[in-house]
Amino acid sequence: MAGIYIHVPFCKHKCTYCDFVSFPNRMDVAEAYMACVLKELEMRGKELEGRTFDTVYFGGGTPSIVDPKYIYAVMRQIKKVFTLSARPEVTIEMNPGTVSEQKIAMYKRAGINRFSIGLQTAIDEQLADLGRIHTVRDYLYCTSLLKGENFSADIMLGIKNQTQEDVRKTIEIAAGSGAKHISMYALTPEDGTPIYTDYLNGELPDGDEVAALYDFGCNLLKEKGYHRYEVSNFCKKGFESRHNLNYWRRGEYVGVGVSASSFMSGRRLLNTANLDEYMKCILSGFFPVIDSEEVSVQDAKFETVMLGLRTVYGFSPSEYQKTFGTDWKEDFAAAYKKTRQYLVEEGDSVRIKDEYLYVQNMILSEYAQ
Ligand code: SF4
Repeated sequence: MAGIYIHVPFCKHKCTYCDFVSFPNRMDVAEAYMACVLKELEMRGKELEGRTFDTVYFGGGTPSIVDPKYIYAVMRQIKKVFTLSARPEVTIEMNPGTVSEQKIAMYKRAGINRFSIGLQTAIDEQLADLGRIHTVRDYLYCTSLLKGENFSADIMLGIKNQTQEDVRKTIEIAAGSGAKHISMYALTPEDGTPIYTDYLNGELPDGDEVAALYDFGCNLLKEKGYHRYEVSNFCKKGFESRHNLNYWRRGEYVGVGVSASSFMSGRRLLNTANLDEYMKCILSGFFPVIDSEEVSVQDAKFETVMLGLRTVYGFSPSEYQKTFGTDWKEDFAAAYKKTRQYLVEEGDSVRIKDEYLYVQNMILSEYAQ
């Protein structure tokens, strides 16, 4: 089974930490852009006939900023040009500053059955400092409209002046609102974003402080019944994100929209990140692809190990042997020797020990060589 990703690149305002492909001043082209998405879906549908898609994910940007009739139209187009599984998981990212009862009703009519909400922190001053357009009250209003639904809350660690108490309050609000899934990410100050200056000035918590907040957050989430299934992702039993699990299992996916990437038939494709160029290509009947690369066997082996080890399920050595005809320990003999003390090998699974999951990058870097 495969996944479909739709990129909606519009935002009201650029957050201070954001380096995603998002355009705060281009809502004037939202209608034309969404029409291009419909066209790109049609173009892709023709070449992907025969595949069944099990997940759809609207990400951004802020998908909830555009008129919900465009989301409805995209879903209608997806159902027309692709084959969906019997019960697909269909997620939309929402900014709490852009929701309404009518929007949510339209999303549900379109077939959306999972909502991913950016809370980030339950401290209003910190939200303002991050340039977020919403308050904690907006988040609570948003989740009050989603009672009984499958929704996820994003929360962030490493914010300026963030204390353990702030993390406690944030997790309590997210869990108390009924989130079935919580993503807890460490803020990464990217060069070129306003927050990078704060980082250079030493105003953000350092690595050890963030690690301590992460440990604290993990324990609190566990107490509240959320199990960790990937370093940043926690959920109630049975509410893992199927869309993300597909990425981590190296499943196929098609990405539609500006800057979207795809992985199909052993090739990775990347669409242009230039909004005008994207629309020009689509309107001229060309795919807006700027990079297309066949994944080598060596890279495919590395991806299998690296993506699998990101989750608590790990990867399957017998699947590896079946796919590549070689033994993973022989292929990565030097890396295995250096990292075996961090791994659990149980039955047909290899994974990173729970206590080392947070430092997985250090472990995985050995396999990249
Ligand atoms: S809402 Fe998300 S995509 Fe938009 S500017 Fe903020 S972080 Fe970036």
